[in-house]
Amino acid sequence: MATDVSTRERADLCPGVARPFGAADGAIVRIRTGARPVPVAALVQLLDIVASQPDHSLQLTSRGALQLRGLPDPVPADVRAAIVATGLVPSQPHELARNIVASPLSGLDGQGIGDVRSLVRELDEGLCANPDLAALPGRFLFAVDDGRGDVAGFGFDVGLLAMPSGSVTLMAGGSDRGWVVDAGAAVPLALELARSFLAARERLGSTAWHVRELGVPIGPGGASPVTLPRGAPAALGQHGRHAVVGVPLGLLTAAHVAALGEAATHVVATHVVATPWRSLVIEGAAGSLDRLAESGLAVSARSPWARLHACTGLPGCAKSTIDTHAFARELVGRMPLGSLPVHVSGCDRRCGAPAGDYVDLLAPLSIDAAMEALDQD
Ligand code: SF4
Repeated sequence: MATDVSTRERADLCPGVARPFGAADGAIVRIRTGARPVPVAALVQLLDIVASQPDHSLQLTSRGALQLRGLPDPVPADVRAAIVATGLVPSQPHELARNIVASPLSGLDGQGIGDVRSLVRELDEGLCANPDLAALPGRFLFAVDDGRGDVAGFGFDVGLLAMPSGSVTLMAGGSDRGWVVDAGAAVPLALELARSFLAARERLGSTAWHVRELGVPIGPGGASPVTLPRGAPAALGQHGRHAVVGVPLGLLTAAHVAALGEAATHVVATHVVATPWRSLVIEGAAGSLDRLAESGLAVSARSPWARLHACTGLPGCAKSTIDTHAFARELVGRMPLGSLPVHVSGCDRRCGAPAGDYVDLLAPLSIDAAMEALDQD
């Protein structure tokens, strides 16, 4: 069913380097990674940009992007130049369109049906090589799943799903139908689907941000039924030679990045992959988990940070009645063992709350009040 987009009278406000978003605590700039490895050196450069902030950190978003906040508003030209100098904005016209999520352990842990890393690279480069695709809305999402089902449920606009025998199923708008093609044809067809979305939007005079909002199908005929696999997010901890670490509250600090640099240097790998679950995949870093844990990163599913989350709250969001991050930091030491995610919100919009069941801590008045809710988990 098509979503009613009649109230959408504006473009999305997803922030970028060329289009920062003004928040209560200053400008926000989002830097998309295209689901590709990020040099640790680039993380250091980004942290340098916010080094004068009292609690300087990089935010990780639910699409595996990096975010700077609290910047001067408007963002000075030298700050924009410093962000671009990290190399993380390969095409400035396309910065808002490079929304790609992908199975972050693909090719590393022996799970999944195929290794989709080259497909992701080809998709990101193909996107940036097509000037017309720079017009995609900032919410339009590509998902590349290696068959394990960890990102297939992401509500994508264009999905690529690895299949046995090296083929790929292409899907549009989260549809339960798709086209099975050779891997070599997958990215050109994915880009063509994105182009078809833009053409349909123009033809219909639509302001849709997503394929499902168009109300009409896109793509060639002959689609077959698809059963999407459903798998769990990459678990924190060791995966063979590799490591997945959780970033508490999605805030990557200088201490974390210093430990990443050491871990990366130790194993002669210099990059990390930001996952859509506010964690990082570090190739070859299984032997460095203790050092990573020392820095404050979560290295096990038993860490309370593996299930404790919070919205932005004060001072970044003027709608909040509490400093959600400070509250979560106070709460984390008293968190009982439990299975449900726990989400602290500063108002009833509950930004960033998990999709399924969770413990809802809405503007809690005290740690004791939160503990009462947790005891019922
Ligand atoms: S849930 Fe409310 S307080 Fe928290 S970030 Fe969203 S709007 Fe702001």
